[in-house]
Amino acid sequence: MIKILIVEDEEAIANLIRMNLAKSGYQCEIASDGEEAADAISERPFDLILLDIMLPKLNGYEVLEYAKTVDVPVIFLTAMGETDQKVKGLKLGAEDYIAKPFEIAELLARVETVLRRYHKTERKIRILNIEIDTDSRTVRQDGREVDLTTKEFDLLLMFVRNKNRALYRETIYENVWGGEYSGTGRTVDLHVQRLKKKLGLEDHITAIYKVGYRFAV
Ligand code: CA
Repeated sequence: MIKILIVEDEEAIANLIRMNLAKSGYQCEIASDGEEAADAISERPFDLILLDIMLPKLNGYEVLEYAKTVDVPVIFLTAMGETDQKVKGLKLGAEDYIAKPFEIAELLARVETVLRRYHKTERKIRILNIEIDTDSRTVRQDGREVDLTTKEFDLLLMFVRNKNRALYRETIYENVWGGEYSGTGRTVDLHVQRLKKKLGLEDHITAIYKVGYRFAV
C-alpha cells in the first residue's frame, strides 16, 4: 500500500486531505509539526510527503532536508499568493507545489502524477491474467475487455493495491463507498461476489472470518 505523510498543523485541512487520500486507497499518517514530521521520516518509509511550509518547531524547508536524505518525493502545500515560497520550495528540491485552498481533485491528480514519476504507481497494472488501466479505468482479461461497474473497478483496484493483505469490510466500505460503515448490510459482500464471478477470482479473493477479504496471488 502506498504510504503518504501529511505534514500540516491545521487539523481540519490535514483530516480533509487524509480522508480523501484514503478514499483513493492510500494509507496516510499526519504529522502536525515539523519535529514530528522529521521523526516520522527518519523512522518509517513513505512514498510521498505533502508538506506545509509554515509549521511549528521546524518549518517545511527544514523538514524537506530530512526528506531528501531518504529520497522521498515532496509536494509543498503553500498558502495562496506566496509565490516566493513556491519558487524556493522547487529550488530546494520539492517535486511540485499546490496552493491552498485547493480542489481535492487537483490534489489527487498531483499526487498521482508525482507517484507515477517515481514509479510508485503505474498506469497499467498487470496481475494474474488481468490488465488494469487506471487512466481509462478499463480492465482486460486475457486481452478481452471486462465490463465492470465503477464500484467493482474501485474494489478491484483496492484488492490489487493491497494484494495478500487482509482487508476489513469497514476499510473496503470506507474506501470504495466513502462514509461510515454501519457494520450491517451486505453491500461489500454483494459487490465482492459479483467481482469474483466476473473475473473468475473465486480462488484468489477469499473471505476471512469476522474480518473481510483477502486477495491472494
Ligand atoms: Ca501551517
